[in-house]
Amino acid sequence: MHDYDRTTLFIDGQWVPGTGGAPIDVIDPATEQRVGVVPSGTAADVDAAVDAARRAFDPLISLAERRERLDRAIAAMEKRLPDIAETITREMGAPIRISQTVQTQVPLAVARGFAAALTDFEFEERIGNSLVVREPYGVVAAITPWNYPLYQLVAKVVPAIAAGCTVVLKPSNEAPLSVFEFVEALAESGLPPGVVNLVTGPGGVVGERMAEHPDVDFVSFTGSTGVGSRVGELAGKSIKKVALELGGKSANVILEGGDLKTAIKVGVGNAFLNGGQTCMAWTRMLVPQSRYGEALDLIAEAASKYTVGDPWDPGTRIGPSASASQYHSVLGFIERAQRDGARLLVGGSEKVRDVGYFIKPTVFADVDPDSELGQEEVFGPVLAVIPFSDTDDALRIANGTPYGLSGAVWAADDQTAIAFARQVQTGQLDINGGPYNPVAPFGGYKKSGIGRELGRIGFEEYLQTKSLQLKS
Ligand code: NAP
Repeated sequence: MHDYDRTTLFIDGQWVPGTGGAPIDVIDPATEQRVGVVPSGTAADVDAAVDAARRAFDPLISLAERRERLDRAIAAMEKRLPDIAETITREMGAPIRISQTVQTQVPLAVARGFAAALTDFEFEERIGNSLVVREPYGVVAAITPWNYPLYQLVAKVVPAIAAGCTVVLKPSNEAPLSVFEFVEALAESGLPPGVVNLVTGPGGVVGERMAEHPDVDFVSFTGSTGVGSRVGELAGKSIKKVALELGGKSANVILEGGDLKTAIKVGVGNAFLNGGQTCMAWTRMLVPQSRYGEALDLIAEAASKYTVGDPWDPGTRIGPSASASQYHSVLGFIERAQRDGARLLVGGSEKVRDVGYFIKPTVFADVDPDSELGQEEVFGPVLAVIPFSDTDDALRIANGTPYGLSGAVWAADDQTAIAFARQVQTGQLDINGGPYNPVAPFGGYKKSGIGRELGRIGFEEYLQTKSLQLKS
């Protein structure tokens, strides 16, 4: 049984009423009906949570204690995954098949990746006459978005626990219910009071207090570039460590000689995964002019297979946009792209259903790389196809946005693709269809962010470094 009427925050190991006013409604984007509420927390609630996290923080925590907390937390989370999958579909509209796989199994793989990192990690090393030791960073503030509600938190909370840090969480108000189930699981796993604390509420109040709080050591934010900039500013003022995982406009570059058919099939799937609400989505497809006509036919055919509809139907591949504001924002991009002269190949802005925030999977051809659609993150099922004349042109276009989060390169052989990939300013690239790796460091170049998440390198972000100079 799910509890979607949440009236309490989790602070210092207790479920306690917040000090805020009217609770925040959570809306099912498929039905536009209210499914539940969460408390609207305040700066005072953040202060209580940070205080609890500070008291729970022990810089000398043993490795055995971290290991035990981590293993129990992962086991408890794993048990709750079927429930959490249902809740994610209810609160943000991901098709149930996506909720049961990408939305929940990827976080599990990511969590196990951190467990492996802890097992193998060398916490001390000699550098010359110094003993260099790695210590838990301290109190972590984790602020997350709605698109992959569980994954976003696991990528921060699990390495924090593994490192011996304590955490205050603030999920997005669009999809907070699955986070309550995750925190319940952590609480049941026997984590000591104050190790993990949950405060929901408006980003401008709760999030800002977390970012500026003098007793927070590290703020790890995932969300839009605009809000990330504000979080960075607040964290900078109080000289705390900040990690920012922000937006993207990643390029899927199909070079001459690349396997066009596979690149298009995989690329369309990547662009439309989770209704295009994926920061690392390959939302620009770069195709050689010489194969452009053939490519457009294949793209239209691939896109036509993406059925949009009821997220509870196992055959649905694209559910609704996650919220009314997201829906209107995406439709605005589609309408402006048409006005900017892009050619509508598939989809468009017509209504799909009378109720629910459904948008047709949409592909534009002949997109000007410098137009809004060629530059800005849409965060919906909208793919921009851009032709290029030669490899230099492809590289210029691939690097020609303010972002640099992800991408792909397809070429006749891996060596050619890797040589091209080395010149792309982005944090991650798939080479000729190389599969997702849950322990590969993930993060942005340029305005896509600062810092890396996942695996050993993501784990190290949660550690401080101390050098002890020895006589010999
Ligand atoms: P968002 O509006 O930036 O919100 C992200 C989080 O920040 C939410 O919890 C939000 O709370 C909070 N927030 C809002 N204003 C704040 C402020 N002034 N100070 C501190 N916190 C504040 O992003 P979103 O719409 O939820 O998510 C979509 C964006 O996230 C996209 O741009 C996407 O690319 C990016 N994203 C990046 C990654 C990555 O790993 N690079 C992954 C996923 C998503 P409220 O709910 O109260 O607004």
